[in-house]
Amino acid sequence: LIAFLLYLFYLVAPIGQLVEGAVQLQNGLAALKRIREIEDLPAEPASAPTVREGAPVGVTFEDVTFQYGEDREQVHHGVTFDVPPGGLTALVGPSGAGKSTVFALLERFYDHQGGTITVGGREIRDWPLGDLRATLGYVEQDAPVLAGTLRENLLFAAENATDDDLWRAVRRTRLDDLVSRLPEGLETPVGHRGVLLSGGERQRVAIARALLRKPRLLLLDEATSQLDAVNELRLREVIAEVARETTVLVIAHRLSTVTNADRIVVMEAGTVRAMGTHEELVGADTLYRELAATQFLVS
Ligand code: ADP
Ligand code: MG
Repeated sequence: LIAFLLYLFYLVAPIGQLVEGAVQLQNGLAALKRIREIEDLPAEPASAPTVREGAPVGVTFEDVTFQYGEDREQVHHGVTFDVPPGGLTALVGPSGAGKSTVFALLERFYDHQGGTITVGGREIRDWPLGDLRATLGYVEQDAPVLAGTLRENLLFAAENATDDDLWRAVRRTRLDDLVSRLPEGLETPVGHRGVLLSGGERQRVAIARALLRKPRLLLLDEATSQLDAVNELRLREVIAEVARETTVLVIAHRLSTVTNADRIVVMEAGTVRAMGTHEELVGADTLYRELAATQFLVS
């Protein structure tokens, strides 16, 4: 009988161990969950200055390859350039060269397949997406004016901006003339069913909207439409002023933007074919000379 009981004990003991093990596992999982919860806490309190504020950031592309889908043709065939922090860098090249795709990769609307992209010295895939997008300001080509007042248009995506911030952005983008001309100032409905803004004004509203989010790198895809001389001059002043505080990377469609740039990256068919200042490139690059002759007004 004792032998039988011992035998029974041997049978049961592992079950007991299993049960004990399961309890331990459960405790372990709970602990792991707590660690995860701790890890998920933001590194800094939300009220502390975040990556939004701070110094301008640079960008590097090194041998970047990219296609929009497996069944699509490759768009970037080893794109290499770098943008130091601060200043104005212009991206130029014929339609289809892959300029807007550079911005799409920086915004991480898509992930590149080969090579390396860094923003602020950090591999782009290592950035939490929210931090990355807060660091970048993106002004798309022909950015829309939304329904609503001018104030609402400017504060879109920056609801926490103060009135001081708002007026500073208005002045920096040379919109103060417009505001004083509008019947109800900032409270004037604009765009659809409101006061129609000119192309140059629309573009500067879009820039002001981006600036209110305090980007450390402004991506600006210039509108291709012709601007009158006054609006062209204003845009040039605005870009130059913003580039004193923030890195500006502009897909340039006008000669006046390009001649002011600290450096120019010439793209063609998914690669970078030349880099330099306007004077250097006019002397050294035939494609650049052709683009300059046509005022860069390509999509
Ligand atoms: P650029 O801005 O220099 O004119 P893009 O970067 O817009 O050039 O486009 C480069 C190539 O990628 C073009 O052949 C274009 O048709 C293709 N392309 C651009 N956007 C997309 C997309 N969302 N899906 C698929 N192909 C795209
Ligand atoms: Mg484009």
